[in-house]
Amino acid sequence: MKFVRHDWTEKEILGIYNIPLLELVYKAATIHRKFHDPKEVQVSSLLSIKTGACPEDCAYCPQSARYHTDIDIGPLLPLQKVIEVAKKAKSSGATRFCMGAAWREIKDGPEFERILEMVKAINNMGMEVCCTLGMLTESQAKRLEEAGLYAYNHNLDTSREYYKKIITTRTYEDRIKTLENIRKTNITVCSGGIIGMGESINDRAGMLTTLSSLNPHPESVPINILIPVKGTPLENQELVSIWEMVRMIATTRIVMPESMVRLSAGRVNMSKEGQALCFLAGANSIFTGEKLLTQPNPEVNEDLDMLKTLGLKPRQAFKQLKQKLELSIE
Ligand code: SF4
Repeated sequence: MKFVRHDWTEKEILGIYNIPLLELVYKAATIHRKFHDPKEVQVSSLLSIKTGACPEDCAYCPQSARYHTDIDIGPLLPLQKVIEVAKKAKSSGATRFCMGAAWREIKDGPEFERILEMVKAINNMGMEVCCTLGMLTESQAKRLEEAGLYAYNHNLDTSREYYKKIITTRTYEDRIKTLENIRKTNITVCSGGIIGMGESINDRAGMLTTLSSLNPHPESVPINILIPVKGTPLENQELVSIWEMVRMIATTRIVMPESMVRLSAGRVNMSKEGQALCFLAGANSIFTGEKLLTQPNPEVNEDLDMLKTLGLKPRQAFKQLKQKLELSIE
């Protein structure tokens, strides 16, 4: 049986999503154990380095300038501030440091140069550095690669069909183009989506169909639960249940067995038991830190306690890269 496939159909993925729940978790856990150390969880830290005033209209996002939300807008942080936060994250056990900027796209100029300095500095600290800065060109991706960027996050968010209902200021094709630009470098790809935006199960399967058609699969696939924020068009969405999250995590694990599957936004509303089920179903990465960009997240100590209780340990940095190198040497 071939586990790593790029030709999953939406129908096949829907079939997996709808397997009776415990059977689904068992299948996903079995595949997880084939491809990953089930005792390890990657611990990432995320910092908003430029907050709010974004020209885009993503319906879920409190950082869009089009919505009246209660966030503290701020310009690009100074280099020293970012280094300080990264050092603190490292000492709390994070092995990946992600920086998010609320931009439509990267513009060449002094701010991009500052980002490159940030990437260099954090890479020199021995952490995997990840950025999410909006759309980028091939030459910008190359410059980020030269600075030592390990991963670039650019989410597909949802299915191609539902995307238009969530964002009108750019297209699904724009997203895919940026992912292609990243793939022209050795930067790893982090791309996933959000559930709970009013999409159908078919849309969830549709998103996983597109992600799993990418060759190679994204090295990291974040699955977020929408946190409805007052002032955004999705403020009245009902929270999705933990069972739907477990199904989504398990399905992602089965269709992209080698990827890191990340429990991202929405963890603050999940019980420890619910998160444990997600780890069993194949999630092996979390964000720590009291804030996820602008939204609340569990406290670091609470997370470390949870990992300890579950017998999970933080995964060392650059492990995926080392595994790849070992494979190419063999
Ligand atoms: S998700 Fe990103 S691009 Fe969309 S409004 Fe928020 S910051 Fe801007």
